[in-house]
Amino acid sequence: MQNETLRPETTPTGLSDFSPTMDGTLRSHAPGTLVDKYGRRITYVRLSITDRCDFRCTYCMAEEMTFLPRHEVMSLEECLQVASVFVGLGVSKLRITGGEPLVRKEAMWLIERLGALPGLDNLVITTNGSQLDRFAPALKSAGVKRINISLDTLKADRFKAITRIGDLGKVLNGIKAAQAAGFRRTKLNTVMMRGINDEEFGDLVQFALDHELDLSFIEEMPLGEIHGRSGTYISSEETRESLGQRFELIPSTESSGGPARYWRIPGSESRIGFISPHSHNFCDTCNRVRITAKGELYPCLGQNDAMHLMPILRENPGEDAPLRQAIMDSMGIKPYGHDFTKQMESPQVVRFMSMTGG
Ligand code: SAM
Ligand code: SF4
Repeated sequence: MQNETLRPETTPTGLSDFSPTMDGTLRSHAPGTLVDKYGRRITYVRLSITDRCDFRCTYCMAEEMTFLPRHEVMSLEECLQVASVFVGLGVSKLRITGGEPLVRKEAMWLIERLGALPGLDNLVITTNGSQLDRFAPALKSAGVKRINISLDTLKADRFKAITRIGDLGKVLNGIKAAQAAGFRRTKLNTVMMRGINDEEFGDLVQFALDHELDLSFIEEMPLGEIHGRSGTYISSEETRESLGQRFELIPSTESSGGPARYWRIPGSESRIGFISPHSHNFCDTCNRVRITAKGELYPCLGQNDAMHLMPILRENPGEDAPLRQAIMDSMGIKPYGHDFTKQMESPQVVRFMSMTGG
């Protein structure tokens, strides 16, 4: 059973100026914005521009991956068209992700154009950091506001074991390059894995404090048929308790509009976040949808329903109206939420995170 059944439908979907809330009041929306059937306004899109990656992180990909043939991946022009239609529908934040977005050939062509889209206030990117020493200055000049970098360990041999092929030194250089290019509040993302990187959580927090970085710990999510994950799963709460023995953690009311909850450490600007899809379901305030490199619009990370934009893009080249209609229609299939906890041993979501874009 999905928790969709827990919530009644509340409002017609698509474009709406007003939508009812669960307490029966009307919530107003700017005209021509995207609102789902539970009255949640969609303002944030995560766009995967490739399913390929130069790492093979154990929690994200299988060791042997078959990647999509080129013609099944959206062209950069198609990515730009999709993004600009979303922006026309009131989306103000776009995260470029993947796979590893910076291994896509000519990724900067797209990023420069996205940076110039009027109405897109917040262009951000999630990367494994391996290519940042090359690209950080260009990302800054293109108007990227903030960078998230995945970092699960500070030990080179462990880094190699988790990523299978990654080089920690390159990522650490990438972090330095981002800071030298003028990026502030760069955020590290750490997937918590018992028996794999849990004894390093305190050192990762200290690294973030020393380098004026933010850090979010992420509960491992059951995406893709990789391995039974309940052995490695650690809750945010458990990590917070153990970090509390080394650091004074003060809960903060700050929010980036996403699933992370933040804590501060006195004397530091760094925010320590916890992304807890299992222990704290964040569906209530969900404001986002995800687009895969194949042009599938997933209204929910944890469910399989998708709207396929690729046939619409290919049958109507350069035309925005059919695309806009499909995006509006997708509001009708956005479910109330996911149910990751029940899925840990036998994932119902068969795509890998590298497909949906994290
Ligand atoms: N390659 C880039 C990177 O690693 O940052 C961007 C894509 S990656 C899929 C986005 C984020 O998803 C990363 O922070 C990664 O750690 C996280 N991720 C991947 N698989 C995950 C899983 N099964 N559970 C939780 N987080 C996961
Ligand atoms: Fe690549 Fe990012 Fe997935 Fe690691 S988490 S395999 S870096 S896409």
